[in-house]
Amino acid sequence: KLHNTILELKGNIRVFCRVRPLLPDDGPGIDMVVSYPTSTEALDRGIELLQNGQKYPFTFDKVFNHEASQQDVFIEISQLVQSALDGYKVCIFAYGQTGSGKTYTMMGRPDAPDLKGLIPRSLEQIFQISQTLKDQGWTYKMQASVLEIYNETIRDLLSSNRSSGIDSIRTENGVPVSGKQPYTIMHDVNGNTQVSDLTIKSVCSANEISDLLQQAAQSRSVGRTHMNEQSSRSHFVFTLRISGNNEKTGQHVQGVLNLIDLAGSERLSRSGATGERLKETQAINKSLSSLSDVIFALAKKQDHIPFRNSKLTYLLQPCLGGDSKTLMFVNISPDPSSSGESLCSLRFAAGVN
Ligand code: ADP
Ligand code: MG
Repeated sequence: KLHNTILELKGNIRVFCRVRPLLPDDGPGIDMVVSYPTSTEALDRGIELLQNGQKYPFTFDKVFNHEASQQDVFIEISQLVQSALDGYKVCIFAYGQTGSGKTYTMMGRPDAPDLKGLIPRSLEQIFQISQTLKDQGWTYKMQASVLEIYNETIRDLLSSNRSSGIDSIRTENGVPVSGKQPYTIMHDVNGNTQVSDLTIKSVCSANEISDLLQQAAQSRSVGRTHMNEQSSRSHFVFTLRISGNNEKTGQHVQGVLNLIDLAGSERLSRSGATGERLKETQAINKSLSSLSDVIFALAKKQDHIPFRNSKLTYLLQPCLGGDSKTLMFVNISPDPSSSGESLCSLRFAAGVN
């Protein structure tokens, strides 16, 4: 039986699946636990996961196998990215267990141009196209912010203060001296989001942004679990606000591009978490399930969308509803020892869990 739920519902929501190649660390002499249907109906859209002799088929808007290059993936999203210049609000997420290829997909390897991920590629394209639109009278103002959500707390990754985040706000007995909570999320009637105290940088070129991304990557908190020494336990949110004016036609557009590298989706037992790690994992589980609740409530066009159940969904609220566009990558490891997690990720992305 095909898990077709998302395809019937989707509207402005798309789900792409990407399988990374087997890596030397996955263990020698093992086979992938995924296969791809060859029927024309499911070509490039189907994936089958093998677990305990059972075959679990899924269909998505697009499936990238382990041979797909960064460029192959980018081609499929470049239209969506460009729509932010036309005034759309766009969110692109990467979901999956730690080690499944989320950061590779979003950020890629900055050292090799071929291996750059979709964040740098998207930003290069946006600047390039905004230049060519000058001839038609368009001028654009771009503003970037980069934050992470860790344990339901926002941290500013572009703060010049080294101990950025909650502890950079002067407090007395834990109460901010200003009397105001730092990083309070506010939405105005026009759907513009403001996060108090968050660093906003005006940017004029893709190079400027790559410097910002480097700074942000260094500030990003990393933890240690049994799965991956550099496991990312926080959601990384890059936001580019685009404001365009056309002096010839008087048109004005305001688009937003959000690129989100989500925290690892692995279940509790797998990472052997206790204490602080347990708290982290619970915060991650809560926000990931809130994200799926919101996305599927939107897809089903339900009246009540539970945006307020997590920081992430509340932050992105204006960019998830209405005529905004959402793309979710579900990243999959083909390693047999990950098949349980892979099945969970596929089910999450298909909206059937
Ligand atoms: P995550 O961010 O989900 O924890 P990473 O993006 O760090 O996972 O990927 C884990 C490892 O797999 C990294 O060494 C990364 O370079 C490699 N990797 C992931 N996806 C690919 C891919 N499509 N091609 C080649 N290597 C990949
Ligand atoms: Mg990562």
